[in-house]
Amino acid sequence: MQPTHHQPASRNVAVIGAGGGGLVAARELRREGHKVVVFERGDQVGGTWVYTPNVESDPIGLDPNRTKVHSSMYQSLRTNLPREAMGFRDYPFVAIEEDEERDPRRYPSHREVLMYLKDFAIEFGVSEIVRFETEVVFVGLVEGGKWKVKSKSKRGEVVEDEIFDAVVVCNGHHTEPRVAQTPGINTWKGKQIHSHNYRTPEPFRDQVVILIGSATSAIDISRDIAGVAKEVHIASRSVADETIEKQPGYNNMWLHSMIKSVQEDGSVVFRNGSVVLADVILHCTGYKFHFPFLETNGIVTVDDNRVGPLYKHVFPPDLAPSLSFVGLPWKVAPLPMFEFQSKWIAGILSNRITLPSQEEMMEDVKAFYSLLKASGTPKRYTHNIADNQFGYDDWLAAECGCPAFEEWRKQMYFVAIENLFERPETYRDEWEDHHLVLQAHEDFRKYTL
Ligand code: FAD
Repeated sequence: MQPTHHQPASRNVAVIGAGGGGLVAARELRREGHKVVVFERGDQVGGTWVYTPNVESDPIGLDPNRTKVHSSMYQSLRTNLPREAMGFRDYPFVAIEEDEERDPRRYPSHREVLMYLKDFAIEFGVSEIVRFETEVVFVGLVEGGKWKVKSKSKRGEVVEDEIFDAVVVCNGHHTEPRVAQTPGINTWKGKQIHSHNYRTPEPFRDQVVILIGSATSAIDISRDIAGVAKEVHIASRSVADETIEKQPGYNNMWLHSMIKSVQEDGSVVFRNGSVVLADVILHCTGYKFHFPFLETNGIVTVDDNRVGPLYKHVFPPDLAPSLSFVGLPWKVAPLPMFEFQSKWIAGILSNRITLPSQEEMMEDVKAFYSLLKASGTPKRYTHNIADNQFGYDDWLAAECGCPAFEEWRKQMYFVAIENLFERPETYRDEWEDHHLVLQAHEDFRKYTL
């Protein structure tokens, strides 16, 4: 909603995290005239794209006292979206052919995405406002609707208290493992690991591996491992109970229905009736939202992976606009969506854009939750907006007074997802949407010339 008159306001804003979300939030906030500090506990920008061979001390990620590693990248990872559809809208993710350090492929390696995000941070002067190796350990409300932010520097272990007008939470959501409940798992003797701690296939050499999951990282990792493992058995929730299929092109990989139970002797029983004696269960079962630093006196909670109540996945009505979240929706093209969310937040904080009243926002949230309930959608899918991601993006664009997403971008996203499921082995190197690539590059001329 665009107000006709407004008194522009400049706020002191803390941004938590310097991944893709925090970087674009910082840029948009500064463009709108706010004063911004970005807190980043790592030593560089890029968030989850900063690959590390290190893994956590508890490979399944259940021990709250484990040593933590932020990134979930595995060594062989190439993007699962084409670069044209993946990058920020006004800073296209184009191939830099002349630099041999760069990966010009359409679906490049994780390092190329990191380099793109680093370029973005430099181009828009965001690197200079990031406090590296500084972890936010507490965010809480103080008088006057302001926020206290306590942070701890890695070197000096100093805990600093600062007061901000607003906080934008961009801490990433691929670090806290989610694990499926499996009957018998407490007495199962084999090894368990979550994909968060998967880096290379070598540790699985000659092993019998059960991999739970069917999302893109499960597809990649199963293929990675099949090259060295004795057997790979994929347990998928999205196939019928009687399913057992040898995977085309592999003599050691099978697709099964879900696991029914596991036994003390190491065997795994599938719903399709087959029994496999396994060495390892690899959980590719996703992640939990986690805000260990945030204290809102119960106003914002995480309940079965629903972060709520949040108006349009961004603002808690009772704390808007001083508290906001970038990056919660999933099954989306994340970076361009972060850009719209950030523009919206920045414009609201400066009074250029107005939010509905607290009551109206709460009514909207309630109506949304009722809709989910009526359609039988579990709470944990609240932020899965796959079916409406472009409706959501276009709504944000309209609120911000920007043009909606380009048609090529929407079509390219859907074509890419279809291609991925049709050609799971080769989709990164074979495609047919050349006409959309041309349209994208035509559009990019606005930003690159
Ligand atoms: P992150 O990149 O995770 O950044 C969060 C930052 O916050 C980190 O730097 C972290 O150190 C910091 N932080 C956290 N807590 C604190 C704290 N308390 N104090 C200070 N700093 C803190 N997206 C695509 O578009 N294409 C792909 O192909 C693709 N593939 C992916 C593959 C994998 C395996 C994963 C895990 C994700 C993939 N994604 C992909 C999604 C990716 O997560 C997003 O593209 C995006 O980079 C997420 O950015 P973010 O800023 O939300 O989070």
